[in-house]
Amino acid sequence: MVAVEFLTLDRDSFTYGTSQAVAPHVRRVIAENPSKFTYHGTGTYIVGGDHDGRGDVVVIDPGPRLDTHRDALAAALAGCTVRAILVTHCHADHSPLAAWLAAESGAPTIAFGPHGDDAWDIGDDPVVDEPSPDDTATDTADEPVVEETTDRDFTPDVVAASGDVVAAADGWVVTALHTPGHTSNHTCFALDDGTTRSLFTGDHVMGWSTTVVSPPDGDMTAYLESLRVVAGRRDDVAIPTHGPPIPNPAVFVGGLIDHRLLREAQVLDAVRGGLDTVPAMVEVLYADVRRELHKPARRSVLAHLVKLVDDGTIAVDGASRPRLDARYRLL
Ligand SMILES: [Zn+2]
Repeated sequence: MVAVEFLTLDRDSFTYGTSQAVAPHVRRVIAENPSKFTYHGTGTYIVGGDHDGRGDVVVIDPGPRLDTHRDALAAALAGCTVRAILVTHCHADHSPLAAWLAAESGAPTIAFGPHGDDAWDIGDDPVVDEPSPDDTATDTADEPVVEETTDRDFTPDVVAASGDVVAAADGWVVTALHTPGHTSNHTCFALDDGTTRSLFTGDHVMGWSTTVVSPPDGDMTAYLESLRVVAGRRDDVAIPTHGPPIPNPAVFVGGLIDHRLLREAQVLDAVRGGLDTVPAMVEVLYADVRRELHKPARRSVLAHLVKLVDDGTIAVDGASRPRLDARYRLL
């Protein structure tokens, strides 16, 4: 497996409930919702304003429905005029507070669209795992959470496609970049202030971990294509929702692409070697990974299988589309 050098955000380097500058024209407020999906928590970004942070700003991913985070945002936005509320995608740690902030500020919410409809039934996971003692607070009583929960209430006031200018003020402009894969509606936002090009990558590119790609809304073919789009840009820095800013993002994202392609090759080799079910593949490919991560690993392997089926490399038996409980063979 290609080693991807992930970056850490020192827990001592930030304080929940306060805004901190992370780049010129960019402040971050981290919500206190740490989990295995969110790292230390959701980073909500406030972009623009004068050197005191006041004036016209946009807010990217207002975050989870958490009173402490709402209050922290309200304090951080005192003296600001919110011109737009940008939403990368509709997972519950990103979009829910957009409704509150829109009502509070009168600013429009802007995104690619609401969460996509599930295109097909991926079936039930055939493996029932023992609950893990270190599953985090996001987990329900006896089932490890394998997916981020979805905010299906969110519908943007303004729909933004790639290349659309979604906000502009004195000396800076923000442009949308549709990056489907993690979710079908995932969108990055590019800030150009004349000296630095920053790409707010949401969950498309994260600093601390690989991104969950969970079918059917998550799509590995689209994800890899969206990674290539980001790798082909000339941004100075990527700023993810979870984890620290990533300098030289083209190189970092190239490593993510290699990592996914190697895993795809391993899945194909597994099918070639006679492994025909998702659980059997995970037992082999994730043998050195903690068992409590095998459930999300089965979603990830399914994502690779969907791509290999769509590529015409392998076939799925017993179902029209790939499922967790289907059998697979070489074509
Ligand atoms: Zn997400």
